Amino acid sequence: DRSPDEGGIVVIGLGRFGCRLAGSLAALDHEVLAIDRNAEQVQKWSAQLDRVVQADATEEGVLRQLGVADLGRAVVAIGASVEASVLTVLALVELGLPQIWARATSEKHAKILGSVGAHHVIFPEAETGERVAHLIVSRMLDFIEFGDNFAIAKVRVPQVLLGRPLRELAPAEHYGVRVVGAKLPGERFRYASDDTVLAPGSMLIVEGSIDQVQSFAALT
Ligand code: ADP
Repeated sequence: DRSPDEGGIVVIGLGRFGCRLAGSLAALDHEVLAIDRNAEQVQKWSAQLDRVVQADATEEGVLRQLGVADLGRAVVAIGASVEASVLTVLALVELGLPQIWARATSEKHAKILGSVGAHHVIFPEAETGERVAHLIVSRMLDFIEFGDNFAIAKVRVPQVLLGRPLRELAPAEHYGVRVVGAKLPGERFRYASDDTVLAPGSMLIVEGSIDQVQSFAALT
């Protein structure tokens, strides 16, 4: 049996999100079949992507003809039309695709996608909006939240962590965050260790609760 992690990925809906996704998957050396019902979109992306097909993805028979049933993974990137998105997921479920990822634009949309059989529901707008809000109001340079109040952030090194090894400064004890990675000026990111000594202009990757990470990022 073929593992669902192997083989091609079908991306349906080449709007702003879908085409970036398809392009990134192709750049990661995955075989991508891209489908959009709009001829203009298909035309536009046919030069950048290996296989771009014009088709209505809500038609199970059409998907079958395109060989979609033999692929391991599908991403339904349609956002604006909830109906098209749900019917496409349904068609993919009927085809028995082992991994169906679907984009939701609202909580209700997500609920429906889950109940018709999508295995993973993603919220690109909501997630990006939330992340960017954190970046705007805090001094974090990047931020990912994993649920259960756990986050990882990229921050500038605060004064208090300069000049002495992390062993002595004990950031976990004092600030509740663990320094996982450090980038000294002119170098690349490396794992941080007890012996790491930070210099002005260093960047850090820290992990902890959202509050702790945020307070740590606010130190100057
Ligand atoms: P974005 O917000 O990422 O731009 P949109 O929802 O505006 O996303 O774009 C969705 C894309 O999905 C459009 O290019 C549209 O032509 C395509 N699409 C919509 N319905 C279908 C369908 N039934 N089959 C294939 N493609 C579809």
